[in-house]
Amino acid sequence: MKKIALLGATGSIGLKVIAEINKQSHLQLVAISAHQNIKALLDLKQVHNIKYAALSSPTFKHSTNEYIAGEKWYTQLYESSSPDWVIIASSGFDALIPAYEALKRGKRLLMANKEALVSGGDLLLELAAANNEPIIPIDSEHSAIFQCLQGENPAHVRKIYLTASGGPFRGMSANEKLNISVQQAIQHPVWKMGAKISIDSATMMNKGLEAIEAHKLFGLEAHQIDFLIHPQAIMHSMVEFTDGSYKAQMSTPDMAIPIRYALSYPERFISQTNPLLLSELRFYPLNMDEYPALGLALRAMAMGGNAPCALNAANEAAVDAFIHQKIKFTHIADWVSEALNDFKYIEKPGLEDLVYTHTETIRYINNKINKHHGYSN
Ligand code: MG
Repeated sequence: MKKIALLGATGSIGLKVIAEINKQSHLQLVAISAHQNIKALLDLKQVHNIKYAALSSPTFKHSTNEYIAGEKWYTQLYESSSPDWVIIASSGFDALIPAYEALKRGKRLLMANKEALVSGGDLLLELAAANNEPIIPIDSEHSAIFQCLQGENPAHVRKIYLTASGGPFRGMSANEKLNISVQQAIQHPVWKMGAKISIDSATMMNKGLEAIEAHKLFGLEAHQIDFLIHPQAIMHSMVEFTDGSYKAQMSTPDMAIPIRYALSYPERFISQTNPLLLSELRFYPLNMDEYPALGLALRAMAMGGNAPCALNAANEAAVDAFIHQKIKFTHIADWVSEALNDFKYIEKPGLEDLVYTHTETIRYINNKINKHHGYSN
């Protein structure tokens, strides 16, 4: 029996994780958390008979009989429920400290959050290595690469190819993209996801964050990470080995599949799925000029240190401003670029440096956007 704590239980990934855990009698969900959706959290707790629930939003200051809350809610959640595994299904940088604390307590980490890996991947991987456990990725591309690398020597990897569906605006000019609405940006053609990741997919920042994620998780250099547009999202990524062999992982585009692999690793569960429509697969080169956000992510990856953390924070703040209709779609990348020019570089950031970089960059972007009225509508 494995006991599991699930952070971000009420989101789209969290709900799929619960469905998969419930199919396996040897997996037991002992703790869940949500940011502030108290009703959804307590409903899940009751329906699935889960012992502990927590709210991470600072608006909930104290624990009650029904839920854990307060500044170090995650510490209390881990200590009360003593999980073997912690699954992070929430999005955003705020998952970094709960992920860090889980690893420090020797838990296996199953990671669907990319912002924490991008910002603090070095710290997380160091802890995981000390625990002698991999961080198990739930992001579909990284699950694909992780699966392709099983039984392989990492030194035999020449290159990886991250696939991207291209998002809803592929082929549009920068001018045409200028007036994209929030509604249009959150309609992803293949994956049904939360607002933040849907917008990141539309700007292609999502693929940039994924490149940094792959760089951290698999120890790859920038020149070993390439991209392919693949609108059907059946092939989730591919590894090229030094002998000229390629391995790719394919499945229907359903996050249940990488979730299932993370829960069964290194084994596999049995599950009924529809056959793949392989004759429809298409691949196209990715045009970097179309996606300035991706170029910025690659620049932050090359800079190293706390640059990916600053990039991610600037993007979180700019996406939030776009959702609140303070800036236009194409300005997301402009603001991220400004932040990358201005942030205070730290070569080997510790946890506190990362929290500082994140907070300061968010403040910087919010101040600039609020002052810059010309950019709103
Ligand atoms: Mg992905």
